[in-house]
Amino acid sequence: MICCEKCFIDIEIKAVIKSLNQLGKCELCGKNNVYIYNTEINNELADMFDDLLNLYTASGDLPPDYPPENVNLLKHELCGRWNIFCIDADLAYRAITGICHEKYQEHPEIFDAPIGIMELNRKDYLEEHSIMKNYEWEDFVEGIKTKNRFHTDYINKEVLFSFCNDIQKNI
Ligand SMILES: [Zn+2]
Repeated sequence: MICCEKCFIDIEIKAVIKSLNQLGKCELCGKNNVYIYNTEINNELADMFDDLLNLYTASGDLPPDYPPENVNLLKHELCGRWNIFCIDADLAYRAITGICHEKYQEHPEIFDAPIGIMELNRKDYLEEHSIMKNYEWEDFVEGIKTKNRFHTDYINKEVLFSFCNDIQKNI
């Protein structure tokens, strides 16, 4: 399967494909004379997706109290939650099963069945690792409007600090 740099929104992935320096026609989006990635030859992206795919558990192995609204198909997670592709979900499915063909053979359920992120159901994990702890954005908004404007407890400041550190740019 051949996909191309234009199939992706993610700048890191685009940079990897460009660095391979192969021009051709994309099988997925149909564009000509673009930087391509051929899954028969290239495997640079497989490792990059591995950590992301490892976050997921097939719905059959999720606990019974796992919220159904957090269960989704991988193709929708990749396009929606992670904003990785700029092709539609069915083409993204073709791309990801091609890029990660070894993992697809070992664990087809992650690609084909509904999946969820186990940690989204663990309050202690979210309290420690999520910027919003276990709160929703609306809770935060309501909190700074009506409870305590300047000393909110709705944010995990350590996680926020590390996030701001990661996204800072020197101009
Ligand atoms: Zn393309």
